[in-house]
Amino acid sequence: MEHGKIIGLGKNYQAHAEEMQEILANVDKPVVFLKPASALVYEPDPIRLPAYSTNVHHELELVVEIGRPCKEVTAQYAWRHIRGYRIGLDLTARDVQQEAKRNGWPWTLGKSFDTAAPVSRLYRPEEVNGDIADTHMVLKVNGKVCQDASTADMTLAIPAIIEYLSAFFTLDPGDLIFTGTPAGVAQIHPGDELVAHIAALGEMTFRAVG
Ligand code: MG
Repeated sequence: MEHGKIIGLGKNYQAHAEEMQEILANVDKPVVFLKPASALVYEPDPIRLPAYSTNVHHELELVVEIGRPCKEVTAQYAWRHIRGYRIGLDLTARDVQQEAKRNGWPWTLGKSFDTAAPVSRLYRPEEVNGDIADTHMVLKVNGKVCQDASTADMTLAIPAIIEYLSAFFTLDPGDLIFTGTPAGVAQIHPGDELVAHIAALGEMTFRAVG
């Protein structure tokens, strides 16, 4: 499967924005950033924590995969451009990202290490069990629940995200959109086992190595 752009949304769940002490100045304008395709990793390969960071955080996210080229698409028609969904982790070198924020730099270097984008297999729309826009999402680290929310808590819903992004640039087949994380982000340590569950999809498991 070819993947071009990986697009991330920042602060698309209010409770997470609050835990990061960010002010939602304009909820219609989410933070948008890119991760390189080299960050993708699939089961059963491990998450490799980079030596340059001492504080990599997990961010459980629903990932939308684009199936048809998409430019200036309105929310009403956005669904037909979706190939399917994946469970994803938008891993973030929080210390590198915080330095970037302090300096007014892009978040790129904090979001881009190899294996910073673990994803599950693709779930096609016909495989979705229930409502993808209102489904339970849980991340357990070493068996302990760390993130527990619903995709219904997104500030900008899936069709609105596609409308917003496709107004700025073309979305191509294979592009992945990380739709933002709910509250409960925390540091990953070598040896940790992360089990990410989205009820309408399924589950994926990754182990972190130092
Ligand atoms: Mg994120």
